[in-house]
Amino acid sequence: MIENVPKQLFVGGQWRDGGGRFAVQDPGTEQQLCEVADARESDVREAVEIAVANQRKWASTPPRQRGEILRRAWELMTDRAEDIALLMTLEMGKSLTESRAEVAYAAEFFRWFSEEAVRIEGRYARNPAGGGRMLVARHPVGPCLLITPWNFPLAMGTRKLGPAIAAGCTAIVKPAQLTPLSMLNLAALLREAGLPDGVLSVLPSTSASRVSGPVLADARIRKLSFTGSTEVGRKLVEQCAPNLQRTSMELGGNAPFLLFSDADLDQAVKGAVTAKMRNNGESCVAANRFHVQSSVAGEFVDRLTEEMSSMRVGHGTEDGVQVGPLVNAAQRDKVIELVDDALERGAHATTGGKPLDGKGFFYAPTVLTDVPPDARILREEVFGPVAPVTTFDTEDEAVHLANDTEFGLVAYLFTRDLDRAIRVGEAVETGMVGVNTGLVSNAAAPFGGVKASGFGREGGAEGIEEYLDVQYLALANQ
Ligand code: NAD
Repeated sequence: MIENVPKQLFVGGQWRDGGGRFAVQDPGTEQQLCEVADARESDVREAVEIAVANQRKWASTPPRQRGEILRRAWELMTDRAEDIALLMTLEMGKSLTESRAEVAYAAEFFRWFSEEAVRIEGRYARNPAGGGRMLVARHPVGPCLLITPWNFPLAMGTRKLGPAIAAGCTAIVKPAQLTPLSMLNLAALLREAGLPDGVLSVLPSTSASRVSGPVLADARIRKLSFTGSTEVGRKLVEQCAPNLQRTSMELGGNAPFLLFSDADLDQAVKGAVTAKMRNNGESCVAANRFHVQSSVAGEFVDRLTEEMSSMRVGHGTEDGVQVGPLVNAAQRDKVIELVDDALERGAHATTGGKPLDGKGFFYAPTVLTDVPPDARILREEVFGPVAPVTTFDTEDEAVHLANDTEFGLVAYLFTRDLDRAIRVGEAVETGMVGVNTGLVSNAAAPFGGVKASGFGREGGAEGIEEYLDVQYLALANQ
């Protein structure tokens, strides 16, 4: 399977070698899978010229044509879901079940934006003062740089490429160094679906700044959409300042999971496992801390512990495996560090609490109780299969705990009381709220955060706006 996947740079539709190659490994075995071409600065500059040169022509293609390319790409992804999922499991580690879910989710952005391409609308109005008319139109923002992380190697790409293609923007994608194969494979698939040469380049690299530096230094590139850590996002916003490029920032999270005593506990435990364990916990929307009303905390911890301890951990390609390895040694070591810090400060592990022996970056699904407020795990994104539980007594306290973080991506809340759901939902400072569900991601909904989780939205009717500029034409009275 790996033999048939492209491993070269994709520059404006052509495959080519870069300046050397770098290794991609299987996190479940620590074995090298293959080597991938490493983009040089000259490749990057050429990709910029191609993106700029093709922008006008691409913007003038009929929206229906752009939509149909996306629709075909959705069909191809759906037909080949099994192979695409296997590739993702091999380079990223997640179980095949998780990879299949990501392929479906990723493809859905192409289907959604294939439909949005023909709904880019404007406005016609009379000047309120009488006389002339006002025309409001939307145009593609221009050539874009799209930078994606390793945790969802495909969906974080289609969430950006779908609206960029639908809007009529050319694009350069910089996939994460750990997981370049899914995106290279997608480039080949898009070409097959009819994407004209010149619209897309994909530049894997051992140096992210070797790609982003020259691209963003060029004022003809008009937009950066970035998904990744808050730290890198801050630097990139600064890099966009000199040329005032538009930015969308999908950054880190620290999602609270609020469980009220009136909740349906079956539903809450199920939601907790989804919110925590989707993607091995390596997700920006993973529940990072569980705040549980005291009267139900004991039962919730018992049931969550039972669920987490019965999850099957193993290589993602094995039948029945639910939890794969973490993506690399650094990620596993970070989880070890945060759990050890909590244990040293007095927390207890009711299950797990340590990495697994042997090859592969495995960490046992873990539940921590008695986690003190100063534990780092309550403040920092753990990005692993660890659920720290603390308790609260009143609703005000729950809201205070939820908002006591620099992040604001998503919050989960479980209650049977509709008034409370709306009251607390509106009081939490996040871009998204899951009410009695541990899953909010949906191509038809605006995904994104506030505060240090960034700005901009991906998906929904809002998603395409990130790739459109508004132009107003004042028409004189004739
Ligand atoms: P990261 O910030 O290290 O890297 C993300 C991407 O940016 C990669 O392609 C990387 O090569 C590139 N990059 C790194 N340094 C760069 C630089 N100086 N200039 C330009 N590009 C650079 O993040 P990661 O470890 O790959 O991903 C995990 C992070 O992503 C977590 O914080 C997670 O919460 C976040 N994330 C957010 C969302 C969201 O939608 N909000 C979704 C998924 C992941």
